[in-house]
Amino acid sequence: MTLRRAAPLACLLLTACPEARRVDAPVRGPTVILISVDGLRADIPERVTLPTLSRLAAEGVRAEAMVPVFPSKTFPNHYSLVTGLWAEEHGILDNTMYDPDTDQWFSMTDDAAVTDARWWGGEPIWVTAAKQGLVTATCFWPGSEAPIGGVRPTYYLPYDGGMPYEDRVAQVLAWLDEEAPPQLITLYFDEPDGAGHKHGPDDPAVLDEAQGVDEALAGLVDGLEARGLLDSVHIVLTADHGMAGISLDRVVFVDDYLDAQKLQTITWTPVLSFYPTEGLTAEEAVAALNQSPQLRCAKKEDRPAEQHLSDHPRLPPVLCDAEEGWSISGREWFSDYEDIYQGGAHGYDPAYPSMHGVILGHGPRLQGGRGVGPTRAVDVYNLLAALLEITPATNSGDPAVVEEWLGE
Ligand SMILES: [Zn+2]
Repeated sequence: MTLRRAAPLACLLLTACPEARRVDAPVRGPTVILISVDGLRADIPERVTLPTLSRLAAEGVRAEAMVPVFPSKTFPNHYSLVTGLWAEEHGILDNTMYDPDTDQWFSMTDDAAVTDARWWGGEPIWVTAAKQGLVTATCFWPGSEAPIGGVRPTYYLPYDGGMPYEDRVAQVLAWLDEEAPPQLITLYFDEPDGAGHKHGPDDPAVLDEAQGVDEALAGLVDGLEARGLLDSVHIVLTADHGMAGISLDRVVFVDDYLDAQKLQTITWTPVLSFYPTEGLTAEEAVAALNQSPQLRCAKKEDRPAEQHLSDHPRLPPVLCDAEEGWSISGREWFSDYEDIYQGGAHGYDPAYPSMHGVILGHGPRLQGGRGVGPTRAVDVYNLLAALLEITPATNSGDPAVVEEWLGE
């Protein structure tokens, strides 16, 4: 308020006063806008003109790819990006989960589940920031609606997929105009993931949706420039995963290998996870399903070490992942959900380049149009902490990645 009083009288009387913002500009600590563009596969900027993304990359830092955690699904990856932890460490094991201790289910569209802190382990960046005195705000992010460690973002919105992109951007800019502006702001765009699922990754609709996001980002960049903030605020823009084409012709039916009625299935595709029941042992189920050339099945403790999905109380005893482009189903399930078996899918092993996403940064410490190597989802939390100049919680990221990004 002191600064406001110092404004020229005319500015107090006029609604449109170009000097007002500068005069009123609050003292601002290091600020990061973390943007997620769902399903923005790493190759999309090469396939379509995205002027805003191109500009940010040309002035900032762009990594070869964002390499997701396994499974390369939306919720595990968004939460790895903000915690620096693998799925088995933070406990968001997939978009759908079952907790045998409480007999409760988690789904990303279930308000009661997403707002329940018991599902969310680790420490997301907004909690780390809050603990160190920063104001935070989220225009959507998985986990942001739950009081994790008793802490919610200072400002947060319940997820509303119908909120127009320009309104999301306007909300971010409005937060930056607050007297005590947030230093960490998240912003989420749900496309081009939706188009990729529906039409497949090679469809022009995916590129159209990517351009729609780019237009919204142009509004953000314009708004930052109008406030004189474009060169002082950091932007970190990332996808959560890529997308692979799938087909009704490439479906593995578990019924072809065992009695599907004996599986209590938690997730179906492209990662099948289940509890064997009715006398079927995990060993028998693994042996039977591994007869499919497209499946890699193992008891959870025997899963590939690099996937970091072997050890969590909520993890079902057996997991199978499908070869890229293949889906997994049961005959009964398939008849009800046939539409999810065509178009595009993600969730596959992150070693597949099709699962990789875009990641880039812009701002005072991310300059020069530099390129850096592939950056894993678990490496991003440390970068955010470094840009915010706060001390990160214990995590699985590689600090050397931060040095590469910062050019140190
Ligand atoms: Zn996603």
